[in-house]
Amino acid sequence: MSSCENPSSEADALMQRRKKYDKSKICVKCKEKHGSIIIRHAVYCRDCFTEVLLYRSRRILDLAVQGRSSKKRTLKAPGDLMVAYSGGLGSSVLLDLVTRTYFVDRSEEFTQRSGINHPRHTRVWEKAYVVHVDISSAFEGLQDHMQAAQKCIGRYPGVTFVPLHIEDAFDISWWQSVGGMPETPVVVDLTDDLLPCRITIDEGRGPKESLRSFLSSLPTQTAVHTAVQNLIRMLLLHTAASRGCSHLALGTSLTSLSISLIASISQGGGFAVREELEEDWASNGTKLKITRPLHEIGMKECAAWAWWNNLTIIGKQKLPGGKHGIGSLTKDFIVGLERDYPSTVSTIVRTSAKLAPKQLSNSRCSLCQRPAQPDIAEWKGKTSIRSLQPDEHTVLDDNALSHALCYACHTTLTSRSSRGAVNRSEAPRHLPLPVWAASTQLVQAPPRRTRVTSQQQKAAIADYLLDT
Ligand SMILES: [Zn+2]
Ligand SMILES: [Zn+2]
Repeated sequence: MSSCENPSSEADALMQRRKKYDKSKICVKCKEKHGSIIIRHAVYCRDCFTEVLLYRSRRILDLAVQGRSSKKRTLKAPGDLMVAYSGGLGSSVLLDLVTRTYFVDRSEEFTQRSGINHPRHTRVWEKAYVVHVDISSAFEGLQDHMQAAQKCIGRYPGVTFVPLHIEDAFDISWWQSVGGMPETPVVVDLTDDLLPCRITIDEGRGPKESLRSFLSSLPTQTAVHTAVQNLIRMLLLHTAASRGCSHLALGTSLTSLSISLIASISQGGGFAVREELEEDWASNGTKLKITRPLHEIGMKECAAWAWWNNLTIIGKQKLPGGKHGIGSLTKDFIVGLERDYPSTVSTIVRTSAKLAPKQLSNSRCSLCQRPAQPDIAEWKGKTSIRSLQPDEHTVLDDNALSHALCYACHTTLTSRSSRGAVNRSEAPRHLPLPVWAASTQLVQAPPRRTRVTSQQQKAAIADYLLDT
């Protein structure tokens, strides 16, 4: 009797549809071995899975070196490679994949098989640096992960460990070590939250104190988290450029990429949506390509790789109060979505890859160094009602930081929280800025007179007026 005549065939069909894999339990690649993992409905055995992950990450890194047009036989990058290592799942897997592909000594067997002139014998990058940014001084109660990170990175003999601390972002001696200019710490006046302006020189606070003061002045928990990510990002960029790296590899998996895309767009970062995927950055003539070799590999595959290869995952630091931030809420949503509908996450990334801003911009944001659309402060002033006073919109002087910020960073500094996560009236008025924010143009421009509103004029002479 065939299965079609079986009375329970309908129920069987329903059961079939619920299966997570399409056809059989045999590996789709070698078509021999029993499958060990299902990646978006396709079954792979362990060996083929290993090959697939090595191939996918290598393809993205190779493309980043050779560009899309030319097919060079010998791959050679103009500088070294820097791998960002947070201790989380993605960057741990990335470090393992990158060192296996590019930084192992080729076995004799490989040399005999492929000949001494095989392009894989030349190193694509001479050196690999692995950077870990410790963020424990940003908040109370965080543990210092530096030693654990160093131990994990020590498993890979071909790489150089570079320890950084998040407070380096406010440390002039670090800024000097990466050749940064100018060498002056600055603060910004945040009294008027539409117009963060009038940059002045800081009066000598320590890096940790400046960092805490910067974070505590931010208006929302979401802003604090975004700021921490931006500080880490900029520390990585400047360190990579100063060490002569041409490529910076981030361990962003497909899952974390779709989380950061949605979270960034929802915080006003839509103008730089392309930069979430792939990015070119230049500083003092050094060109740096930021690449995400895991952007086709989901979190589940990363977890399987880590498990099968016995990787130690020290875990990312959990920031306090982050549960209700936009980032965490987006993460909960996307991770839940990926569990039930595994293809949706790659759809988010593929759809976002087609998005582009209407106009291109030549200017870069002073804080995050991503492309910034011009005149956002003026635009924000015109499109949103910030006050019922009719004459609030003043003309900014050239010294104002608002001219140099992207929409997302402007929002990070000035957005208001309905819950009042951070009490603004208690927050310090002068916000210390990261060392790179003091671009030459901002600090050296001669201070101009700021046009004051009639409200501000009235406030200034309020003590001399008689009550009528
Ligand atoms: Zn197989
Ligand atoms: Zn920005």
